[in-house]
Amino acid sequence: MAIKQLIKSTSGWLYLNSPVGRQQLQGAGVILMLHRVLSNDRAADLPHRNELCVGPKAFEHLLVWLRKHFDCVPLMEILQPNALRSERPRVALTFDDGWRDNAVNAFALLQKHQVPASIFLSTDFIGSRQRFWWESLGETLWGSHGDKARMHLIECLHARKHPLPVLLDDIDVERRSLALLHYLQGLKSLAPQELEELTDECPKDSLPQALDWHQVRAMEASGLVRFGPHGASHAILTGLDDARLSEEIRRSRDALNNGCNRPLPVYCYPNGDNDDRVRQQVADHDYPFALGTGTGIYRGDGDPLNLPRFGVSQRTARHPQLLSWRIYRGARP
Ligand SMILES: [Zn+2]
Repeated sequence: MAIKQLIKSTSGWLYLNSPVGRQQLQGAGVILMLHRVLSNDRAADLPHRNELCVGPKAFEHLLVWLRKHFDCVPLMEILQPNALRSERPRVALTFDDGWRDNAVNAFALLQKHQVPASIFLSTDFIGSRQRFWWESLGETLWGSHGDKARMHLIECLHARKHPLPVLLDDIDVERRSLALLHYLQGLKSLAPQELEELTDECPKDSLPQALDWHQVRAMEASGLVRFGPHGASHAILTGLDDARLSEEIRRSRDALNNGCNRPLPVYCYPNGDNDDRVRQQVADHDYPFALGTGTGIYRGDGDPLNLPRFGVSQRTARHPQLLSWRIYRGARP
């Protein structure tokens, strides 16, 4: 661990274990944001996966650490706490998008450690073979689907005037992965239609990327996991006109109502993007709460339609003390 990280993790540890830290966090809620849990940690270590993916060993390490320092509670217990509160700070886990690996890799570990979680589904993807563009484009460019597929996609990107940076051919794996991360971030601004067309140029995986409704219901039946909407098509809500915005929220709400027994009254903005207009529409569709991606801890004040969360990467899951450092930063007045 680099010296700077060591200082952060030590300060974070001290904070969680000091009277000041414990007092500041008393009654406060910490909401964590995750996306994927891969089947191996080495794959999750690379920079272009690190932000959205954790490996099973790191994830289990995080769960054990959380149970040691926090009360791990369902999200609604942070948003609508009952009168009985323990001294310890509370933490709730959330997962965005609805990746299949949430059922395949994460669920068994959540059960083993009895940690509740909420999963927010981009409902068009659930039970379909529709693919998330950043996963398909990213892994095809990384070469996970072979050289032929990679070259084909590169040609398509060239033809559409999105040439790849030279660094994407760097001999160093870390640098190559970092270059890919930056390149994918740059593609976020393309029109959804174009991203979909590019995704169609990628080879199809043998398994769907997203959960299906059977998996959703099986996890819900355990009593440990609840579900809420994360858009229908994962379109960035602030970019939609009023009619499309309303349609997107309604479609995702209806899908949840059909597919789950007890969907959460919490919306989760794709990419975290929201503004006054989006928040109003979400409220008009009967959601009293919504999750953004701004960091901070929740004390019952602040805008319930733009709740803060702390993102968890493979790095922070491996070194959860880094998370306590960020909580400390978020907790400071
Ligand atoms: Zn998302």
